[in-house]
Amino acid sequence: MPTDEVMRPYLRVSDNKRGQSESVKEQLAELDEDASERAWQLGEPYADDGISASQYAEKVRGDFTKLLADLRAGTFGASILGLWELSRFSRQVDEWAPALRLLEAASVRVWVSDVGKMYDPADPDDRATLLTGAVRAEYESAQTSRRVKRTVRQKARAGWMHGQAPYGYRREYDPETGKLLRQVIVPDEAKVIRDIFDRLEAGHTLRSVTIDLRDAGVRSRAGRPLSEQVVRGMATRDTYAGRRRHSTRAANGRGGQVYEAAWPAIVKPEQFDAVQSILNNPARRTNRDGQGRHFLSMIAMCDRCVAPMTTSQRGGEPWHYRCHANCGIQVSEELLDRIAFDVIVGYLSRPDVYEELTRSRGGSPELERVRARLAEVRRNLVELEADLAAERITIKAAGAAERKWMAEEEQLVRQERELSTPPALAAFLNAGGDIRERLEAAPMSARRAVAREVLSPDLVGQLRVGKVTTNRWCDECRKPTCVHRVLARINWHRA
Ligand SMILES: [Zn+2]
Ligand SMILES: [Zn+2]
Repeated sequence: MPTDEVMRPYLRVSDNKRGQSESVKEQLAELDEDASERAWQLGEPYADDGISASQYAEKVRGDFTKLLADLRAGTFGASILGLWELSRFSRQVDEWAPALRLLEAASVRVWVSDVGKMYDPADPDDRATLLTGAVRAEYESAQTSRRVKRTVRQKARAGWMHGQAPYGYRREYDPETGKLLRQVIVPDEAKVIRDIFDRLEAGHTLRSVTIDLRDAGVRSRAGRPLSEQVVRGMATRDTYAGRRRHSTRAANGRGGQVYEAAWPAIVKPEQFDAVQSILNNPARRTNRDGQGRHFLSMIAMCDRCVAPMTTSQRGGEPWHYRCHANCGIQVSEELLDRIAFDVIVGYLSRPDVYEELTRSRGGSPELERVRARLAEVRRNLVELEADLAAERITIKAAGAAERKWMAEEEQLVRQERELSTPPALAAFLNAGGDIRERLEAAPMSARRAVAREVLSPDLVGQLRVGKVTTNRWCDECRKPTCVHRVLARINWHRA
């Protein structure tokens, strides 16, 4: 038996995602079913597609406005307003309350399909329920809006929709909407990346790392062995430290804002920075220095000429370090190596040295201050370029300001270097365990990196070898050459 009850549905899909029209159809189908079960007639539906009912969606909902106008004008023509769920109607309390008053005045009740309940706006209890629903809907909507805004901002900054996922990462997409969900670590590839950073930090050369990767059969995603250039590219990629550089148009590669990325880091930021400092060290670029197979070649100096010593072998003699300026000063490689090695281990094992070096690396307040100021100065330089581009500042004024900032930047970079523990040492100090054992096990390139740092004027002193001053044999060993006699010739030159 049909009743004279008429229900007009209000349908709305807020998400503009794929399949929205189906959703409107589904809502209508469900309300239609509700109506036929209860012998109500189904009136003309109001439908707002793809427009969120919340104040955070900056669009007009045409049919919602029409619905309110109909209620006000008495042209609604039904006794029931049908909703698929409460939040479909409105997510704004200040929109909802007047609407309820209009519904009450027109003696229209509200059917909510998903809970299967009828609400009468004239009934105080029902009214309270409907208003509470509006408060909750508005609250949830505000939460969503905040989340959406944050995501949009993050995406704008991260820019990760562009390009492919770099080696070490892959991206996960929502199978339904095709939306990018997150960038996750590919364990096997991440292992290669960590290995590259560990070894560079320990003082290996790019070249030796590249060769070892090739021998280990590591391939790029394109299936080729990694070239030295590719390895360098990986070793300088901010992405792996969990950072995203959002580049503005800045000259000479400087500048751009660095954001914390939305993806997990593969290497620690401190390690990343340490490796950058190693790669930026110009001394490392010379082949002779970087690939020496001898512990102190180009590190030990001739005391007379203040020239580096290099190795050579003549006839059947053992290896010697000789003055590169050819003054004739030479010394047994084996003995000098042994002395230098013991001195380095002894120095790094001293508790006070350990404390001093690890403290300065860990970030003393002074270092923190220098780094913060450096970041500020670099930001100023970036802003200056933007101001100049937007013609908010004259070229002359910009030039003067740039000179000032760049002078300060240079000074701060120098201070930062002085306050930071040299990266080669940091790797050894932070690895734990016995320093002698670790240094002995390290490859020559790593040992040389440590020697270069420790045997510097700032720490133990530069290792300078003078001429032989006596022909007498050593009193202790009764030998013509021994560590004692070599030790007596060394001048530990300090700054
Ligand atoms: Zn010399
Ligand atoms: Zn001796």
